[in-house]
Amino acid sequence: MLLVEDDMSVAAALEAALRRRGYEVIRAGTAAEALAAPTVDLVLLDLGLPDGDGIDVCRELRRRNEHLAIIAVTARGEERDRVAGLRTGADDYVVKPFSMMELQARMEAVLRRTVRVPPPPTVLEVGPLRVDSASRRVTVNGREISLTRKEFELLVTLAREPGTVVSRDRLLMEVWRTTWAGGHTLEVHVGSLRHKLGMPELVETVRGVGYRLVAPQ
Ligand code: CA
Repeated sequence: MLLVEDDMSVAAALEAALRRRGYEVIRAGTAAEALAAPTVDLVLLDLGLPDGDGIDVCRELRRRNEHLAIIAVTARGEERDRVAGLRTGADDYVVKPFSMMELQARMEAVLRRTVRVPPPPTVLEVGPLRVDSASRRVTVNGREISLTRKEFELLVTLAREPGTVVSRDRLLMEVWRTTWAGGHTLEVHVGSLRHKLGMPELVETVRGVGYRLVAPQ
């Protein structure tokens, strides 16, 4: 996180407290330093800075990254700053003096709101193969293929990392939730999957290790 605070004794105390709580802290004492700082996921931004308006810094940081979590820090009574801060892109604010407990609660709340969880891709494409995990449809060169549940899960597990060898143990864990099912079960399913795909070369055996999904050249 980035800590923007021009009062060096306040900044030092805050940095120490934040580090004790496990945060990686980068410090900036001016608006210029704040804008030149490396990318972070959270900014604690004092709005009263010596070389510029914290509100302009806030607006600029928000313009650069819409997903950044920004908590504005204002002095008591500066209602105008607070409103302006929120209007220019801060996610929340704290009023000086604040306790670490309050700050941490707000930081956690803001991070929860701003953290992006990328949705898992529903369509995986490897060469002529197309796997839609939402509708559970599989096509090879546009021709739809009907797979059993286990064959489908096996294919999805391989298609998530095309070109990468997926170990037998991992396939057994992900598809059968156990490594006890044994290698024979896996071989039988790989065999039927290859047969149904009609392109056996799509699923390559890596002897002694596992299997890999490859797009034919
Ligand atoms: Ca200040």
